[in-house]
Amino acid sequence: MTSSFVDFHCHLDLFPNHEEAILECERAGVYTLTVTTTPKAWPHNNELALKTRFIRAALGLHPQLVADRASEIKIWESYLSQTRYIGEVGLDAGPSYYTSLNLQKQVFQRVLTMCNQVGGKILSIHSLRAATMVLDMLEKHLKPDRGRVVLHWFTGSKAEALRAVELGCYFSINAEMFKGDRHRSTILSLPFERILTETDGPFCKSNGKTVRPVDVSVVVNLLAMELKTTPDIIAKNILSNLNTIESFQ
Ligand code: MN
Repeated sequence: MTSSFVDFHCHLDLFPNHEEAILECERAGVYTLTVTTTPKAWPHNNELALKTRFIRAALGLHPQLVADRASEIKIWESYLSQTRYIGEVGLDAGPSYYTSLNLQKQVFQRVLTMCNQVGGKILSIHSLRAATMVLDMLEKHLKPDRGRVVLHWFTGSKAEALRAVELGCYFSINAEMFKGDRHRSTILSLPFERILTETDGPFCKSNGKTVRPVDVSVVVNLLAMELKTTPDIIAKNILSNLNTIESFQ
């Protein structure tokens, strides 16, 4: 049984009904990376994901929570050997989180250093208003052969995107990213073989409704339209990119 679509960044445990959200992905065959915002959520997410065909749980410590939860990096470390997937981690330099930026950097450095040390991890990384800082830290603390990096909802400049490509990064694209001309043209500048899709549900809405992993087909359609090809070709390309990432040792 193979999946038809890929949602490489979603928070299934933050939907009103976590188990129902999982069942929906299973029924529809949507490969879903369910990221966590605190390592305390890891055991339950992992336990549910292990019973499925298409859900993979990621171990995270969200940069927006670091101000209050930096000490949980110890819990994060204690679970590291249980998972191949890391997220949501990264930096957020937006106005609401700027004051914790130094603490965020300390936590993110620890995350990257540990991933570099153990190797073989696949990371979903948040970089809001912090693209250059994230890329600087990746360059310094995670060697390209020691981890696979997927930049989630990347909103950096075209030059930053190019630098990320050179560092070996992938990008998970959601529907919101097509809304501004600047971001849309950045997406279109990315190499085909570095693109994945995501929903970031339940944080994204479409027509007032919370976006779910099954809605990732909308992103596939948008990519097809923009790249002047068919949704089928895009979907196959995304699955092939996913296979490339997954086969990384
Ligand atoms: Mn997220």
